[in-house]
Amino acid sequence: MAEADIERVLFTREAIEGRVSELGKLIAEDFAGRREGPIVLGILKGCFAFFSDLCRSLSPCPRGCEVHFARASSYEGKATESSRSVKLSFLGGDDDVVRGRDVVIVEDIVDTGGTLLSVLGALKDLGARSVTVAALLNKSCRRDLGGFPLSRCESELPPRLDGPITTDGVTTSEEFLGKYLRYVGFECPDEFVVGYGMDYDEQYRTLGYVGVLKASVYSP
Ligand code: 5GP
Ligand code: MG
Ligand code: MG
Repeated sequence: MAEADIERVLFTREAIEGRVSELGKLIAEDFAGRREGPIVLGILKGCFAFFSDLCRSLSPCPRGCEVHFARASSYEGKATESSRSVKLSFLGGDDDVVRGRDVVIVEDIVDTGGTLLSVLGALKDLGARSVTVAALLNKSCRRDLGGFPLSRCESELPPRLDGPITTDGVTTSEEFLGKYLRYVGFECPDEFVVGYGMDYDEQYRTLGYVGVLKASVYSP
């Protein structure tokens, strides 16, 4: 049984349920007075459980709110000219849906932040009006944008829902990235976790809780 591979449970089904419902209300409040609700953009596959619960907690439901999905996949082979580590591909090819819209990215976990940096850059290029991030877990102690300079953040990353982020008072690009993380479920310790959508080699995604995987599973 998959449960036998779990070292310990970090976030129970009940704890997740309570926190996700709070995040849904917070997002709904942020959009309550606005003309148009968000494009809620799930980054597959890890987001699926969080995405589904979060969307159903958007109460009151913002008018014009749409759901879309994209995959963030690593660039194969030679490094591209951009500093981007991953490519964003929209399901059904409908990347034009974000143009002029406020986007809420839904991620399972932000670790180094490299994926999120790439996704933010891609959404800016696609003409998103603003971008804010919902992440179930934040491993903030692991943040490392691989030398991406702060001087490029303002011009290459999009505004947030409440306006542009400036580099005033910000000393690193990692700190700049952190400002997009408005809807965070839990701070995550520096351990490899699975469940509630998150996998190891495509296993454990269907667990209802988040747990630490036994090291013996990946380093026998
Ligand atoms: P980043 O680009 O922030 O370093 O990593 C982002 C992606 O790495 C996440 O969306 C997730 O797919 C994967 N990842 C990072 N940490 C973990 C973890 O502890 N468990 C699992 N299952 N995936 C992780
Ligand atoms: Mg992810
Ligand atoms: Mg994975």
